[in-house]
Amino acid sequence: MKAYHIHVEGIVQGVGFRPFVYRIAHEHDLRGYVKNLGDAGVEIVVEGKEKNIRAFLRDLREKAPPLARVEKINVKEIPIQGFDRFYIEKSSTGGGSGDSIIPPDVSICEDCLRELFDPRDKRYMYPFIVCTNCGPRFTIIAELPYDRVNTTMREFDMCDYCESEYKDPLNRRYHAEPVCCPVCGPGYRLYTNDGMELTGDPLKRTAELIDKGYIIAIKG
Ligand SMILES: [Zn+2]
Ligand SMILES: [Zn+2]
Repeated sequence: MKAYHIHVEGIVQGVGFRPFVYRIAHEHDLRGYVKNLGDAGVEIVVEGKEKNIRAFLRDLREKAPPLARVEKINVKEIPIQGFDRFYIEKSSTGGGSGDSIIPPDVSICEDCLRELFDPRDKRYMYPFIVCTNCGPRFTIIAELPYDRVNTTMREFDMCDYCESEYKDPLNRRYHAEPVCCPVCGPGYRLYTNDGMELTGDPLKRTAELIDKGYIIAIKG
């Protein structure tokens, strides 16, 4: 049995990095935790067999999610604390020396695109569909660490369905901070220039009005 403290810097917030660490820690039968350190990167503590930890470190470098950019990994051996599982710990608010970079917004991924046009999907034609691999980051982050409470999505309480996805480590939306659906997320409405709300599907009406030569303004 060995225990290591691992500090990762780079683009490691808002890109599915913690769920990724959670998954590979489970794959290699390790215990401990992973935690966002605000602007100072991500902290990981792992305990387990030395060869499993080595395999974990290899995966950490080589299998990071597509949007992550690992710039620096510091590893040091520490005394064993006897964790009984691996978990994602609540973020702390900065104070470290390094810098984590706020990730950019990412256009919709193939999986979300498929769901968007699937009439059986809960987010069918819902324009704010997102997952860990896509969606807004930069435009919604008010401050680091990148957690929902620090984004403009804090005004929208997750419904039970979204929350179950958010909390399921094997789900594509595990810890996807902006996760939402038509029930719990932002909506959109169409108004005339004197403030009267127009009925019908706002997107379809907008398209029709543009075809007729109207000018449309969009406000967030
Ligand atoms: Zn997606
Ligand atoms: Zn929802």
